[in-house]
Amino acid sequence: MKIFFPHDSVRPQQSELINDIVKALHEGKTLVANAPTGIGKTASSIAPALSFAIQNNLKVFFLTPKSSQHEIAIQTVKMMNEKFGLKIKAIDLVGKGKMCIHPLVSHVGAGFYEACNSAKKSGKCVFYSNTKGSTKKQKADALKRKSDVLTQYGNSYDKIKNACFVKELCPYEVTIEMIRGANLVICDYFHIFNDEIRQGILGQAGITLGECILIVDEAHNLPKRVRDMLSTTLKAEDLKKAQDEAKTIADEDAMKALDEIILEFSSLVNNIPFGEAEAVLDPDSILPLRLLAKKKLDLLEDAASVFMNKINKENSFLLASAVFLHTLCQQKKHTLHMVERQKNSLRVSIYPLDPSELTADVFKKSASAVLMSGTLTPLDMYADILGIEDFVLKEYTSPFPKENCLNLFVDRTTTKYTERNSAQYDEIASIITMTTAIVPGNSIVFFPSFEILKVIEPRLGIGRKVLIQEKLMSQEKKSRLVSDFKALGRGFGGVLLAVSGGSIAEGVDFPGENLRCAIIVGIPFAKVSFQSKALIDFYEKKFHKGWDYAYNAPAINRAVQAAGRVIRTESDRGVCIFLDKRFSEPMYKKFFPKNFSAITTGSPEELVKKFKF
Ligand code: SF4
Repeated sequence: MKIFFPHDSVRPQQSELINDIVKALHEGKTLVANAPTGIGKTASSIAPALSFAIQNNLKVFFLTPKSSQHEIAIQTVKMMNEKFGLKIKAIDLVGKGKMCIHPLVSHVGAGFYEACNSAKKSGKCVFYSNTKGSTKKQKADALKRKSDVLTQYGNSYDKIKNACFVKELCPYEVTIEMIRGANLVICDYFHIFNDEIRQGILGQAGITLGECILIVDEAHNLPKRVRDMLSTTLKAEDLKKAQDEAKTIADEDAMKALDEIILEFSSLVNNIPFGEAEAVLDPDSILPLRLLAKKKLDLLEDAASVFMNKINKENSFLLASAVFLHTLCQQKKHTLHMVERQKNSLRVSIYPLDPSELTADVFKKSASAVLMSGTLTPLDMYADILGIEDFVLKEYTSPFPKENCLNLFVDRTTTKYTERNSAQYDEIASIITMTTAIVPGNSIVFFPSFEILKVIEPRLGIGRKVLIQEKLMSQEKKSRLVSDFKALGRGFGGVLLAVSGGSIAEGVDFPGENLRCAIIVGIPFAKVSFQSKALIDFYEKKFHKGWDYAYNAPAINRAVQAAGRVIRTESDRGVCIFLDKRFSEPMYKKFFPKNFSAITTGSPEELVKKFKF
């Protein structure tokens, strides 16, 4: 099979990945690939998948957790087209909320989909009417209006959005129509893993999952993203406000239904033991509310629609209540329900435990799939958690010279809860102070939590500029913090105190002089909560690996992600210090990638001093 690889040369690791993908495509399997930074995953996956798809009349879906990762996929296709004179058609599909140009609906947060549906149904969205039309003449007009835009493949979504704005068309609906003619759809996870959205998209395109090749980028995010997709929360006061809304439209049936729902909802407080603030609801406790929701849901959805049209609002508490009850009715088999007592209110949350209830079927029915990430270990855990059956697991080596990175496990300290004390914190602070002083440039210290950051920060004696990530920092402030820190790298160097698992640890690139050293203080375990305990119990029952799958492996993954900020290009050199004696213990060490190696030491300063940055 000819592979339309966009670059002039293929690195050995790329060639290995491409060959494995081709094999998986031919066998209809799912390749679960741990492919470190620098391999060039986007080109190495899109090129063979598209080459195969074109020859077999299939479509490729490139799924990412963030739309910021779409541009590189668009550019890859452009390069393929230019190099081989091809006419591969790619489209950039983002969330409907981001595409929407309706002056009111586009500002709706939660409940956006219902608001959009309501605007469409009531004919209040002119952009939708212009795109679809209902009479024969309107449909013909719509086709004329769309004709220019429908051919604009290979553009980012904002360009399509602008073109639609000029023509007064709904950008989302137009993009969905373009899928029919596209070879590659670059979109978010939820476009495929949300049943309703996927069925809508594939239905419009006139294809089945069996005609789709799925590439899941940064796939370590998939289990959590799928759980988040199905999670929701409602407060008792939202139901009361929904009742007020029903009153304003004189909908007595909705008011009565809400009376019953509020009564049932409020009775859940009895499940909270005396002196406690929250409790897990067993299936029998939540059942009456679910049965009631099934009976009253249509009524509330209609009332929400009438209310929003009458008041000319695109969001409402009636709508929020209906969304919650809808999720409750649709709930998956393994779901955690929580009730929390708040100041003067009560909150009920729905938290699904098993992402495979959505993902297993998708992977089974797709033509083939590739899951890839630089932190997808242990691979078999991801295959288990996502319910993938016919899979190939593979770990690739880093294309960067091994000697460029010095990994150290420091076995002198720990942040283990039972061993936390003042002397331990002093010791950690002293190692941070000494090693960052030796590093000729920028260092980041990743703490397992803001609480530990706060305890250790006053004990540090760093003689350079120190910047600190704060707990509730706006995106704008965080971006400024990162750029200020990067600027320090061009001079004498500074130290950034941040947390593992946050957006700095997982979403920011620090190539070259931007970062020379990362210190990971402690193992960044998730906070123990009812949710994490339920997840541990669930995976213990399902795989006898509760602690490993729900607690230990994700924590090591966070540590590896944070350390991964240091080496971003072939010429980067730097040091990663894992500052906790537990990192070198077999029960945690086994979750590091197979090709990872580290020196265990009690004196990191000595080795850092000798390292040639
Ligand atoms: S149909 Fe399109 S433009 Fe109209 S509200 Fe929905 S997303 Fe927005």
